[in-house]
Amino acid sequence: MWSNIFLEKNLESHPRAQHLLSLFPKTPVTPIERYDEFWGRFKKPYLHKRDELNLYIAEKKGQLVKRAPDAYGLAGEPHYYFIHAYNCIYECQYCYLQGHFNTPDLVLFLNHEDIIAEMTQTVKDHTEKVWFHAGEFSDSLALSHMTGELPLYFDFFKNYPNAYLELRTKSSNIRELKKLAPLKNVITSFSLSPEDISKRIDLKTPSLKGRLDSMKELKDLGHALAIHLDPIIYTDTLEADYTHLFTELQKRDLITSLRYASLGVVRFTKDVHREVERNYPDSMIHTQPMINSFDNKVRYNHTLRHWMLNKVKELALNFGFTSEQLYLCMEDDA
Ligand code: SF4
Repeated sequence: MWSNIFLEKNLESHPRAQHLLSLFPKTPVTPIERYDEFWGRFKKPYLHKRDELNLYIAEKKGQLVKRAPDAYGLAGEPHYYFIHAYNCIYECQYCYLQGHFNTPDLVLFLNHEDIIAEMTQTVKDHTEKVWFHAGEFSDSLALSHMTGELPLYFDFFKNYPNAYLELRTKSSNIRELKKLAPLKNVITSFSLSPEDISKRIDLKTPSLKGRLDSMKELKDLGHALAIHLDPIIYTDTLEADYTHLFTELQKRDLITSLRYASLGVVRFTKDVHREVERNYPDSMIHTQPMINSFDNKVRYNHTLRHWMLNKVKELALNFGFTSEQLYLCMEDDA
């Protein structure tokens, strides 16, 4: 899985580091002082992750919990994200990480107790409901069977019912979640695209069916769920594609149980758009022209993306979603 593992020396005896190393007994391990003396110091092209991916095991210094941008989640409530990893084993063609870091190498931060201490302070600073999001810079569940931090977060959220955790994923890896008693304030949110689109652009991720089946298992166990229909990418068959996706959700009786469903049309910063064009020149993402739009992001034109959002929203409502479940992500009014 990894070409090399780089391990910060102060973590050599850390039980979670020991566990990670035990999973890769044949991978060479290099002791280092600090991950950021090496990681991202030189430009490593994004697609090198296919052939030569390194893992850094590290401790995150500095601010661990950060205020999330507006429109990150449900409006009117404070949102924060926390940093427990950098980069991802999957390869979605639109992934913003390809223009964000200098390298696709993964970093797993082990100091979850420090993250939880910052969360505790953040909760105390608010009298209202407050949200924490995992998965800003990595997938929340893809490696969770190796990293083992989920029980710590469940313990924290059990004690703070006014704090909400969103575990955002494109994985179907629910092994660890299934071992934990569900909490009303811990929501696993799955990013979904129609099957044909997902096969073409969500490279190396579990299939749509795999994700939906995992959702069904979690629902039956009582876990709280949500979905992100984001990014929506234009196809000539958009209506049929989303009808199929909603039919699959309906078949598994998932729709009414969803806490929320976000809708967002594909968008990029200029840097990420440049990387996507370079890395995936033949991607279906480029079949429609994009413009520089209202928040300086690169998107489809206003007419097209609002047609797409309204079409998917209309279909969702026809399939039994309520308007309270649906919200638009990073979009001006549709
Ligand atoms: S799952 Fe998320 S973080 Fe991972 S490659 Fe896809 S978009 Fe990027």
